[in-house]
Amino acid sequence: MIHHDSIVALATPSGAGAIAIIRISGEEAITIGNTVFQSIKGKDLTQQKSHTLHLGHIVDGNKTLDQVLISIFKGPNSYTGENTIEISCHGSTYIQQQIIQLLLRKGCRMANPGEFTLRSFLNGKMDLSQAEAIADLISSDNEASHQIAMQQMRGGFSNEIAKLREELLNFASLIELELDFAEEDVEFADRTQFWELLNRIEFVLKRLIDSFAVGNVIKNGIPVAIVGEPNVGKSTLLNALLNEERAIVSHIAGTTRDTIEDELVIGGISFRFIDTAGIRETKDLVESIGIQKTFEKIEQAQVVLYLFESLKFKVQSSEYIIEIEKIKNQFPLKPLVVVINKIDLLTTNEIVTIRQQLETLNIKLETISAKNNLGVDELKNQLLSFVNTGALRNNETIVTNTRHYDSLLKALDEIQKVKFGLETNLSSDLIALDIREALYQFGLITGQVSNDELLGNIFANFCIGK
Ligand code: GDP
Ligand code: ZN
Repeated sequence: MIHHDSIVALATPSGAGAIAIIRISGEEAITIGNTVFQSIKGKDLTQQKSHTLHLGHIVDGNKTLDQVLISIFKGPNSYTGENTIEISCHGSTYIQQQIIQLLLRKGCRMANPGEFTLRSFLNGKMDLSQAEAIADLISSDNEASHQIAMQQMRGGFSNEIAKLREELLNFASLIELELDFAEEDVEFADRTQFWELLNRIEFVLKRLIDSFAVGNVIKNGIPVAIVGEPNVGKSTLLNALLNEERAIVSHIAGTTRDTIEDELVIGGISFRFIDTAGIRETKDLVESIGIQKTFEKIEQAQVVLYLFESLKFKVQSSEYIIEIEKIKNQFPLKPLVVVINKIDLLTTNEIVTIRQQLETLNIKLETISAKNNLGVDELKNQLLSFVNTGALRNNETIVTNTRHYDSLLKALDEIQKVKFGLETNLSSDLIALDIREALYQFGLITGQVSNDELLGNIFANFCIGK
């Protein structure tokens, strides 16, 4: 597909920086660039080879705007597949705006969000899921989501789907061909092979669908409810967990007094810690609302960290054990780690006694000192053990995109209908319909089937300039 208009946008973040890159793509990109560029060596940009770099000035009439470097990429060997130039200019917002406005006057149009990537997709440079991976890549803030996005961008996921789709398409054609010879009762499609293919597709679909749980968690972070009375050391613990990892993403104070969220990256995985009050019996109304809230947060969390202060635990152990039991009964399936903090204030014997008291509860227990960084690594490993990172380590394809997930579920449903149809000797024309629907869902993932609405939705989420 050829786009006759040339689009322009800033490719680097808006605001001032050391340099900024302005990108133009379209049939006339190089010609337009040439009209505003004076090469130091007197070169004509339109006569230069692809993948070359040129030093010169951007001029607006007799006014020089900036000294720049221009890179030339000739279609189809560019990101978009079209003629493209990239102008590296000095990073002041004034210069950026002056150059972009000049280019608009010379015939460029301002790019829409994601339009460079959209053109790349439309020109067959990448499929849809690869294009989506680019958006994920730009927004990834931890190692795991970065790894998944890179894998998807390289086409791991869509190659697999596209291959299966092609095999299925072959069978669809054969079965539809049989329909043309209906009176003669012929079978072009080998039913045994077809059955084998359906099983293979079903297996792959199920694995990809399962991977979404991991993918989703990796992309959005694992919610951890961190429960404990004020002053047990929740904030100190978060800081200790953060110690070597640097990446604190947020510390959001909520609208109510007891919702604070911190996002930390531990071992390459994002965890979202949701700070909640303890759940002791109380007659105080405000506090009982707090307890209600705590239960809601625990419900939403994937892991519960229940923090106690060692000295208080020593004195009130029976009371606290009732609390722990209450949580266990309320959420029998929720992974729970009881953390006794400030063990620097206890003797070794006292720690042993507490451990023994809790043994009967059959829970995961960590005794730590957040302030002195004791036991914090063990707690980290404990948290990571709740995440199924096997798929990640094995570099398997992981689905992170809700749109893909939705199509995979529908495709699986259709494949199972086809299998059922074969088992029950359903007529071939009905089976062919289900196969078509499965093919359609596969096509939606890779973009072999697409429509303007779908593309509009996907690319609207990109930033301008990508
Ligand atoms: P939060 O209200 O649960 O977030 O508790 P903070 O993290 O603000 O800690 C409350 C107090 O306990 C602070 O004065 C901390 O320095 C102290 N604290 C935290 N962890 C430890 C620890 O391991 N040992 C000792 N002795 N004090 C601690
Ligand atoms: Zn705190």
